[in-house]
Amino acid sequence: MTARSELVAALRGFARLRAPLVICDYDGTLAPLVDDPDCAFPLRESVTALDALASLADTRVAVVSGRSLNDLAALCRFAPEIMLVGSHGSEFTTGFDRDLDEPRRELLQLLTSDLDRLATADDGFIVERKPASVAFHYRKVPPGLAEPAVEAVRTGPATRAGVKVKEGKKVIELAVIDADKGTAVNRLRRQVGADAVLFVGDDVTDEDAFAILHSPDIGIKVGAGATRAGHRLEGTGETAEMLEMLVELRRAWLDGLGKG
Ligand SMILES: [Mg+2]
Repeated sequence: MTARSELVAALRGFARLRAPLVICDYDGTLAPLVDDPDCAFPLRESVTALDALASLADTRVAVVSGRSLNDLAALCRFAPEIMLVGSHGSEFTTGFDRDLDEPRRELLQLLTSDLDRLATADDGFIVERKPASVAFHYRKVPPGLAEPAVEAVRTGPATRAGVKVKEGKKVIELAVIDADKGTAVNRLRRQVGADAVLFVGDDVTDEDAFAILHSPDIGIKVGAGATRAGHRLEGTGETAEMLEMLVELRRAWLDGLGKG
């Protein structure tokens, strides 16, 4: 079988499960990567497909992102049935995990001023404040300027006690609580009583989610790079097509059961 037909076969099986849960990363998966993170809008076809999936019987949908919940909600209006999880799994729409204790709040303040200081070297850097972390974006900065600054983050603030470091595409993030997408996926799975998860993501932080998947779960890596996912798609366009196919397969299966 070709890789493509293997994925279609896996989707067909997934569509027939009792309570499937579809989880998508946001940037690079639903939204094409762009220079300005404030302008990273999702493909309309993907949002339409996720909304459709979430409206089907016994079918749950979540978007799990490194972004803060506020940021996610500002970029896209998802159907209210879609669960949103921000900050790599430390912010659930249900609200828990959002309050930091005093030492963590102080540490976060320190890290933020560290990064603000390092970012002054060039105004292309973006220091993004999130409820439990601070991210240093350097997508818009020329490599010759970005590299020394990122190295200064790695050898400086990133080494402070209690800091969890996550590196992604042109971003290094310093968090004061331990959260990863694998833990978030397991929590969502338990919360909704899913019998399988389909997880789609493009970045290094998505590997935490791929690592905890097990049969009959499906992991799909978007784009190039080493991965633990069993399947791969080329980009956000193919991701939209995959989601549209999943809507059709699930709808047809539920129709046959008299649940459509
Ligand atoms: Mg991503």
